[in-house]
Amino acid sequence: MSIDQQLTRINVMQPWLGEEEVAAVSEVLRSGWVAQGPRVAAFEEAFAASQQAAHAVAVSNCTTALHLALVVAGIGPGDEVVVPSFSFVATANAPTYVGATPVFADVDESTGNLTPATIATVVTPRTRAVIAVDQGGVPLDLRAIRAWCDPRGIVVIEDAACAAGSTSHGRPVGAEAEIAAWSFHPRKLLTTGEGGMLTTSRPEWAARARQLREHAMSVSAADRHASVLAPPESYAEIGFNYRMTDLQAAVGLVQLGRLPEMVARRRALAARYAEVIAGLPGLRMVSDPAWGTTNFQSCWLEVLPEHPLDREELMMHLADAGISARRGIMAAHRQPAHRDRSHVPLPVTERLNDQTLILPLFHQMTDAEQARVCDALLTAWRP
Ligand SMILES: *Cc1c(COP(=O)(O)O)cnc(C)c1O
Repeated sequence: MSIDQQLTRINVMQPWLGEEEVAAVSEVLRSGWVAQGPRVAAFEEAFAASQQAAHAVAVSNCTTALHLALVVAGIGPGDEVVVPSFSFVATANAPTYVGATPVFADVDESTGNLTPATIATVVTPRTRAVIAVDQGGVPLDLRAIRAWCDPRGIVVIEDAACAAGSTSHGRPVGAEAEIAAWSFHPRKLLTTGEGGMLTTSRPEWAARARQLREHAMSVSAADRHASVLAPPESYAEIGFNYRMTDLQAAVGLVQLGRLPEMVARRRALAARYAEVIAGLPGLRMVSDPAWGTTNFQSCWLEVLPEHPLDREELMMHLADAGISARRGIMAAHRQPAHRDRSHVPLPVTERLNDQTLILPLFHQMTDAEQARVCDALLTAWRP
């Protein structure tokens, strides 16, 4: 290995963007229509088709999609919403936007996701919804969770922020959700810079979300603009400005076309990691659950006590080789913003939060770059 190679830093994630995205954005700029318009509509249609969702509503990011999902599902003050602490903080923050209380439940150690059993532990008569995450792209067992929640009148909101390209029971993740929220942040596979989507099987929820994202206007700005004599609009309730722009949607349309290739490459790279890690006792890597496939948005490793290094030491060892790993998924209940909430013991969340790290994995990663990461994992065992 040359000095140059040693000094080249390997990042944990890198978006895959090309000339097609540049051309798509240029076309939007030349068209003069840069805010929410025809490309947002086309992106919604294409995304709904690819995820097998009945309706898709594009929004500014996944956090605003979660907020709108809670509003259209009728969640409000006094309600409890079960969430995993083991998630990006937006999952736990969202219920507070509607005056509801997030209630932390623990996760399954192999998937990092909620299960009917962990949900059942924290449900009370005030529980009105669950935000269930496909953490790091690993599909949750939505069928099992809905089988438990639906008869009890508990709405299941799927936080599929990380999971575009993952599958469950042979269908795209989210296809069997009553409502789901998606992210197009560059840390996810498909990116629009910032961006999000809400998908739902219920036409009335889609229609209300469509109005709420645009100040609850009765006539959309795009429709008003399209007519010479704009019809008068009214505002039936207090809405928000959660719109996506046509600039973002144009990028999203190109990215959506790249998604199958991105997932295939990530899964091939992950399979190589899995082979190497299988020979290294003390490391456990995330893998597909029985009911689906992950897009490996986060390829996480648990550093078990029998490993010679602990998680922090292994991250240092990787950093010395110019490899930028990341601490695993956060635990919201340990953050100042949520620390004062009472909660049940969350032993699996805390263990995974303490012992996991995320390996570099991105579309353009070369086999040589991956070999460097594998070498560093090997030398951690046999210095
Ligand atoms: C990234 C992420 C979000 C937030 O997505 P934004 O588009 O950045 O708002 C929400 N939930 C989970 C599980 C995420 O990973």
